[in-house]
Amino acid sequence: RGPGGRTFFGHPWGLATLFFTEMWERFSFYGLRAILVLFLIAPPSESGLGMAEGTAKALLGVYMAMVYFVALPGGWVADRILGARKAVLVGGVVIMLGHISMAIPGGAGFVYLGLLLIILGTGLLKPNISTMVGKLYVGEDSARRDSAFSLFYMGINIGSLAPFLVGYLGQNINWHLGFGCAAVGMALGIVQYVLGSRHLRGVGDRPGHRLNPQERSRFLRITAVVLAVVAVLVVAAAVTGTLTVDAVTVALTILAIVVPVVYFGYMFRSHEVTAEERVKLRAYVWLFLAAALFWMIFDQAAGPLNIFANDNVDLNVFGWQMPASWTQNINPILVISFSAFFAWLWLRLGSRASTGMKFGFALVMSGLSFVVMSIASHATHGGTVKVSLLWLVAVYLLQTLGELCLSPVGLSVTTRLAPTAFASQMMGVWFLATAAGDAVGGQVARLQAPWGDVKYFLVLGVFSVLAGVLLFLFVRSLRRLMGEEREPAVTR
Ligand code: GLN
Repeated sequence: RGPGGRTFFGHPWGLATLFFTEMWERFSFYGLRAILVLFLIAPPSESGLGMAEGTAKALLGVYMAMVYFVALPGGWVADRILGARKAVLVGGVVIMLGHISMAIPGGAGFVYLGLLLIILGTGLLKPNISTMVGKLYVGEDSARRDSAFSLFYMGINIGSLAPFLVGYLGQNINWHLGFGCAAVGMALGIVQYVLGSRHLRGVGDRPGHRLNPQERSRFLRITAVVLAVVAVLVVAAAVTGTLTVDAVTVALTILAIVVPVVYFGYMFRSHEVTAEERVKLRAYVWLFLAAALFWMIFDQAAGPLNIFANDNVDLNVFGWQMPASWTQNINPILVISFSAFFAWLWLRLGSRASTGMKFGFALVMSGLSFVVMSIASHATHGGTVKVSLLWLVAVYLLQTLGELCLSPVGLSVTTRLAPTAFASQMMGVWFLATAAGDAVGGQVARLQAPWGDVKYFLVLGVFSVLAGVLLFLFVRSLRRLMGEEREPAVTR
């Protein structure tokens, strides 16, 4: 209950606190994401960094990948050291400092520092705020929790409308003003979180499994060794002249692939995982791979699709030139518009729509969106003609239909298939799928220049459609592995 016994759309007032904090965090994240690549490739005469397009797309890819990658250690830190509530606060402050660093027009150094801080802060904030939403409903029925998560996903997407403001300021006035606006958004989120945290009913006050003194000193030792090794590698690379942005993106891409492989291996071999849980984990691996491929395509929005909007789309609306970054608002607008429909659809379809089917459908949709991109690229006649904005609307419509079948479903399936011993870290594992997909996607985007847009989008699109069809063929086996048959209704 909130001030004067008020509720938040029928939910405890603590959900409002988390809703608005995550809304502002996503505001800062998607605001920056909408203009980052355009800023990186803009020539210095237009106050940009003048980076090669391939490098910029790979950098954007690993940046997004790392933002999601650190969800795993971030969840761990909250569970063992800080507690979720403090982790979210510290994370918010670090994110804000990152955007402030980006707002300083002092060259590439401030940009890299800013991105690093945003990555570290998001690791502390993003996974733990989602976990806190779930914790508000401990002991309540799952329908209310599902409804809370739908509302929360709405908050995410309201925040994701940031490009209207950040994109306009950044592209039409000054890049750094846009970055500063993202910082202000995060600051509002922090103030709101501090003022509202008394409504959280003590959720996340304490770490779930606090480290004992021996574990703590072991943790500090390992951290020190890892940091020292990284420092040595970085210095060695700098001395030999191999410390380029490209080399860093390749190294981090490898990390984003190797860590999930090792982590799954570790879970499969763990004595704490029962035979039954292992079967579910096998099903989860397939869903994880499908999700990674989906995000690989989907998150090209901020790079290749954004550049396409900037170079090849007619952005003239009623005589006014719209900033290209505004096209990044199409997806959140569609998510907000369709959420209620999907909530209804899942209830309606019940157990007839299995998770495997939804994931397969998502892959087919994202694949088709790239086939449409390929046709749109063809219509530019090699970049000589500007095409209608409606092409991008169609592309994002297909992607959003896929997203709503995969993203919220993925969150809930992750909690359902998690082995008990790894429950608190499973949210981080889910975000590793995005990390791997985004990192690989950033590297794959390098093929765009040599292949040309038409072939690039077509090859990726067809690949994704085929993967989706393949998944459809295994829907039955997945159902069996997941034990979904006995479930009366699969919600959301
Ligand atoms: N758009 C959602 C968010 O920002 C989902 C992102 C993801 O899981 N990759 O939270």
